[in-house]
Amino acid sequence: MDLSGKRYNNLNTELKRIFGKKVAKLSIDGGFTCPNRDGKVGFSGCIFCGERGAGEFTSRRGSVKEQALEQIKIIGKKWHTDSYIIYFQNFTNTYAPLDKLKRLYEEALELPGVVGLAIATRPDCLDDEIIKYLKELNARTFLWVELGLQSIHENTSDFIRRGYSLEVYDMVVNKLRNESIRVVTHLIIGLPYETSEDIIESIKYVGRTGTWGLKIHSLYIQRDTDLFRFYMENPFRILTKDEYVEIITEGLKYVPKEMIIHRLTGDGDKSLLVEPKWSGDKLSVISQIDRIMKEKDIYQGQNLIL
Ligand code: SF4
Repeated sequence: MDLSGKRYNNLNTELKRIFGKKVAKLSIDGGFTCPNRDGKVGFSGCIFCGERGAGEFTSRRGSVKEQALEQIKIIGKKWHTDSYIIYFQNFTNTYAPLDKLKRLYEEALELPGVVGLAIATRPDCLDDEIIKYLKELNARTFLWVELGLQSIHENTSDFIRRGYSLEVYDMVVNKLRNESIRVVTHLIIGLPYETSEDIIESIKYVGRTGTWGLKIHSLYIQRDTDLFRFYMENPFRILTKDEYVEIITEGLKYVPKEMIIHRLTGDGDKSLLVEPKWSGDKLSVISQIDRIMKEKDIYQGQNLIL
């Protein structure tokens, strides 16, 4: 059990352990686009990706500083903290010339109270020059890089139009690990036509990478996406909340104990949510996960130490 009493190693507790207090994440839209949208890799983007580029809580208006200060006003009061991680969330946050990346990341690091940076991107947008700069940043601040893998299965990757292969993910994860840069992998649970075995295989695979973190989202069909249009014409089976919780609690048995769990459910814009309806109540999903883990005496990594 971790310090918060959870049976998995969660991000909030880990940050509290490292920094000695609550650290809040501020989600920033750095004005990036994505190669899967601008034509370099594809024009339509991933099938589940909304108009805001998988970052629904940011405001495109304003500089990094302006956006951060706006959020501090809201979040700072809620969390009673003065320590922040700036999270570059929308679209692909390393998809720009290096001087633009430097300008944005340095602006973030100069803000008072900022103790770290989280950068969401794709593995095919991390060339050696960028990794070299990230290595430099990693020595100066608490840095992690988030990669949207979603599934290890090729048929799913084709269906969701991810636009890069598992080999590219593996290669970049190795490069980042070699530079001791923390990597967080995103997986989506409940993608069309995946079985629970397929999903558990993806979780096990990411668990074996030896990386720092795992972020699990429930599939989230949002009104402004191609996935919604597909679903209207080809309604596929949506996981029930009980099925989702069962997959998560089973999957966590195969995640190494030291891996940090960043998220265990979705957190999209409720006003755009079509299915699954239950995913709109994040707290209820988390409390069911906690309850089932306790009832069945499940904890993170238990099947790796038998
Ligand atoms: S890589 Fe990310 S930003 Fe780009 S289309 Fe896919 S989900 Fe959207």
